Amino acid sequence: MTAGPVRKVVVIGGGTAGWMAALPLAKLRTVGGAGLEVTLVESAEIGTIGVGEATLPPIRAYNATLGLDPVEFLRKTRATFKLGIEFCDWRRPGHRFFHGFGDFGPPLGQVDAFSCWLRHRAPDDTSSYEDWSMATEVARRNRFAPPDSDPRSPLGAYSYAFHFDAGLYAAFLREQAEQAGVTRVEGTVTEVALRPADGFVSAVTLSDGRRIEGDLFVDCSGQRALLIGQTLRVGYEDWSAQLPCNGAWAVPSESAAQLTPFTRSTARSAGWQWRIPLQHRIGNGMVFASDFIGKEAAREELLQGLDTPALADPRLINFTTGRRHRVWERNVVAIGLSSGFLEPLESTAIQLIIDGVGRLIELFPDTSFAPALAAEYNRRMHRQYESIRDFIVLHYKLTQRDDTPFWRHCAAMPIPDTLAHQIDLFRSSGRVAIYDPESFRESSWISLFMGLGAVPAHHDPQADALPPNVLAEYARRVRATVVASADSLPEHAAYIHRQLGTPAT
Ligand SMILES: Cc1cc2nc3c(=O)[nH]c(=O)nc-3n(C[C@H](O)[C@H](O)[C@H](O)COP(=O)(O)OP(=O)(O)OC[C@H]3O[C@@H](n4cnc5c(N)ncnc54)[C@H](O)[C@@H]3O)c2cc1C
Repeated sequence: MTAGPVRKVVVIGGGTAGWMAALPLAKLRTVGGAGLEVTLVESAEIGTIGVGEATLPPIRAYNATLGLDPVEFLRKTRATFKLGIEFCDWRRPGHRFFHGFGDFGPPLGQVDAFSCWLRHRAPDDTSSYEDWSMATEVARRNRFAPPDSDPRSPLGAYSYAFHFDAGLYAAFLREQAEQAGVTRVEGTVTEVALRPADGFVSAVTLSDGRRIEGDLFVDCSGQRALLIGQTLRVGYEDWSAQLPCNGAWAVPSESAAQLTPFTRSTARSAGWQWRIPLQHRIGNGMVFASDFIGKEAAREELLQGLDTPALADPRLINFTTGRRHRVWERNVVAIGLSSGFLEPLESTAIQLIIDGVGRLIELFPDTSFAPALAAEYNRRMHRQYESIRDFIVLHYKLTQRDDTPFWRHCAAMPIPDTLAHQIDLFRSSGRVAIYDPESFRESSWISLFMGLGAVPAHHDPQADALPPNVLAEYARRVRATVVASADSLPEHAAYIHRQLGTPAT
């Protein structure tokens, strides 16, 4: 059979993943000068998971590439700005650190800022490397403005992402996708037809008998994994041994007096609690490991830990951390929760959706579905999943907490060899191994290591050649610039009101 173009794409699922996949496929990919015919099927009966409110900086490029209007986005999704994550009680109770997005000051000649800081620090010094992070300093002041586009400016040395209402974001994308020609079908898929010759999916049938045919199927059906799991039987690799949390209670609460430009993650007795401020409410949740705490006790701990009154009853979501053995199988590509889930810490699921869609567009097949394309897609997604897994496991593994069975378990649990190497490398030399250039950058790894108290024994020897007075003057200048620059920015809430043209309250 000769290969032809893939024209008909069917997306199963209308959650964040479904709409984040449908819109770029319709807008950015053409076949013979014409757009793809994209149909999205979603089931009102089944609904969506309805969480996923914090993002990472590449969401900005995703929105911009699709031509989404930034102010309309802000208004319609009730978004706020995110400069990073504040981690409370992770190293030990009462300790805080910040993972800010962006860099830590300019290099001094050939020597990077981190090596300079390590060299400059006196042995009994209690100052923090965070003091050189623009994002951290701006967040401490509850301020925000977008970074300067000139990377040489101190105000160009940080990055940001968003917090938004996941349901409103999906609705916003749906509006755009329908304008771009995506056909939305409401209904529940009850049957999947496979071609007898090769086992490729040829069509899905809805409960009312409607049949939808396609060349390529994108499985965005969430944890059900209707096509990749239930139909094609691609197995799931369970990572619970290294990521033991498997449940979450989610609850909205009233807004607080200060609109903070960061996510807060607070370690609790058998997991951790998130706090995500939106324009109109705060999203909260308790992520917990059911081997170490009962679900009612976890719910109670969440409610006790809220800083504003709850607006609804908490909702329970169960999950298993891990990933599919293959996320592209025959003519099915799994994107979103159907492809895997690494738990919400560090907000990586939407990032994996963005990269999953981007790679599908880049490696888009014809009807021959060359196995090498699927193999390359699977290779890249696997590498990213593993790199993110290591980053998340590090939060638990390096804890100094030993106050509950859960934290003692985390400190003692076996870790992947790649992460063991990463920890050895950092502890001995201050260097970081980047296994996946599309995942967390060196500055993020350093933030985390330092926040968790893993200070390197050695640094780049080039820093030893720097005279102490030159280093001292450089350190003074970096800190003074960070403080002065952060002071020059507006309040986070005031910046949002200015963008929306609404009066500050
Ligand atoms: C507790 C928790 C917190 C999270 N927090 C974050 C976060 O802060 N940041 C982040 O990036 N991510 C987060 N995530 C992940 C994020 O929620 C998901 O990645 C994202 O919402 C994508 O979900 P989805 O679209 O894959 O699945 P879903 O939202 O479950 O959507 C599945 C869709 O498939 C449809 N469907 C299913 N079966 C059928 C069928 N038979 N016929 C027709 N339609 C069907 C459903 O109706 C629905 O439309 C979190 C996840 C959890 C569990």
